[in-house]
Amino acid sequence: MSRLIFLFAIVAVVYWLLRSYVKRPPSQPATKAPEEMVRCAQCGVHIPKSESIPAEGMYFCTPAHQRAHSQQNE
Ligand SMILES: [Zn+2]
Repeated sequence: MSRLIFLFAIVAVVYWLLRSYVKRPPSQPATKAPEEMVRCAQCGVHIPKSESIPAEGMYFCTPAHQRAHSQQNE
């Protein structure tokens, strides 16, 4: 009977080890760093800030839209 308890203890320890191993946060490669999204002031499309063209405190998806917007306001 004590053998059975010993066996159960081993299974429990192995299970606990596996669980804590799985629970460990996986070393994530830099895939989805949350990036701030901005809205193109011309067409309203949402783009990552790093890909946008900032101008006059606004953001644009393309240089063409930046130009179109500045021409509109003239
Ligand atoms: Zn645009």
